[in-house]
Amino acid sequence: MPGQFKRGIRVILPAFVRVAAIASVSIAVGALFGVEAGLWVALIAVGLFFALHLYYLSVLGTWLEQPSLSTIPEGWGSWFGVFNRLYKTRRASEINARRLEENEARFRHTISALPEGIVLVDAALKIEWCNPVAERHLGIRLQVDQGMRITNLVRDPAFINYMTAASFGEPLLFRPLANPALALSIRVIEFEPARSIIMSRDVTEAERLDAMRRDFVANVSHELRTPLTVVNGFLETLLDGEPPLDETRQRHLQLMHEQATRMSRLVEDLLMLSRLEAEETPLADDEVDVPALVAELELEARALSGGRHEIECAAEPIRARGSRDELRSAFGNLVSNAIRYTPSGGRISLVWRAQDDGAVFEVRDSGIGIAAEHLPRLTERFYRIDRSRSRETGGTGLGLAIVKHVLMRHQGRLQIDSELGLGSTFRAWLPGARLIAGRAALRRVA
Ligand code: ADP
Repeated sequence: MPGQFKRGIRVILPAFVRVAAIASVSIAVGALFGVEAGLWVALIAVGLFFALHLYYLSVLGTWLEQPSLSTIPEGWGSWFGVFNRLYKTRRASEINARRLEENEARFRHTISALPEGIVLVDAALKIEWCNPVAERHLGIRLQVDQGMRITNLVRDPAFINYMTAASFGEPLLFRPLANPALALSIRVIEFEPARSIIMSRDVTEAERLDAMRRDFVANVSHELRTPLTVVNGFLETLLDGEPPLDETRQRHLQLMHEQATRMSRLVEDLLMLSRLEAEETPLADDEVDVPALVAELELEARALSGGRHEIECAAEPIRARGSRDELRSAFGNLVSNAIRYTPSGGRISLVWRAQDDGAVFEVRDSGIGIAAEHLPRLTERFYRIDRSRSRETGGTGLGLAIVKHVLMRHQGRLQIDSELGLGSTFRAWLPGARLIAGRAALRRVA
């Protein structure tokens, strides 16, 4: 406040002095040569001041049309102060702008050197800037495409869906139509409410190695399938053969048969995973009668349990679109896990019902439960908390990996809630778009 007052005084005082000077000269002339002469002097002086101010106003107006530090005018009287202050402000903002430009250039230079592609887009996905790597990855050219919507330039459906769905939790893996030899991983970082960075990473080599690994596992599993079937067949013949074997041999053959069966299960699970992972395996479009499937699984659960558990089952009349075999395998794995990891006397419930814009198959057990630190890793292949328990109960360590893949292929997800010693709840959720619901259930899904 005192600063503002001082500044006000500094501007008003000279003007006041000038007015006072004109008034005194006019009064003096009036006293010496008559009132009329005094008034003339006052009028001429005020007119001159008025003309002077008009002149400087026009000078200021002309300068403002093309403001530049080098052409700033010089002024007289109060205009000297005005132009002087304009000069200082202009100089400060030019220095700031230059500094900003330098910083931006340095930032862009650094980003240009990154091995990742970077595209800066606004809220409407219009390209503001991109580095040369992004130009190469996405087939865009900054000079020509700046200001264009990126989804109009990169026309791959997977990319367009990913960008418009605006759900960037998981990266997008895709091969651009313009360059199918290239495998890209796309990530989007929203760094301001109205701006995002699209990062593209070349994962061609990693994808090639992953495909090699998948092919290798699929081929080995396939090659093992036939010999294992033969071994299993002969073991069964020997076990059931006549004359009956002595007790020791019978036990040995029984053990061999159990292990060979386990190997067969492992091979089947590995083949199933390979099929699920292969991009070229299309998803079947069956109309799956999930309530009937759940009823089948209930029977299976009762058989597996052999009366050791209390089993409940409920299903709303909601059907689903997708692969019946895959959903059966996924839901079946959850059910068999519940039986295998719940001690005798425990309770198990299977429920299929509408939930959160979709429907969920929920398997709840009162079994051994899972400690929190294991939960994030459960769907990894061969991740087992207790290896020997898994093996004893006929597990392969691949069940939940299969569940995860099947759900991913159906745009669903797996949710696991568990507490050590208290039991677990596994929920396989399918989105509403995959459901064909009965009228009553539909109302709840919507
Ligand atoms: P596995 O064939 O070993 O059961 P899964 O992939 O089906 O393999 O499960 C991975 C691990 O998750 C299991 O080894 C087990 O430790 C744990 N798990 C799965 N389901 C349950 C459950 N219902 N209760 C407790 N632990 C479970």
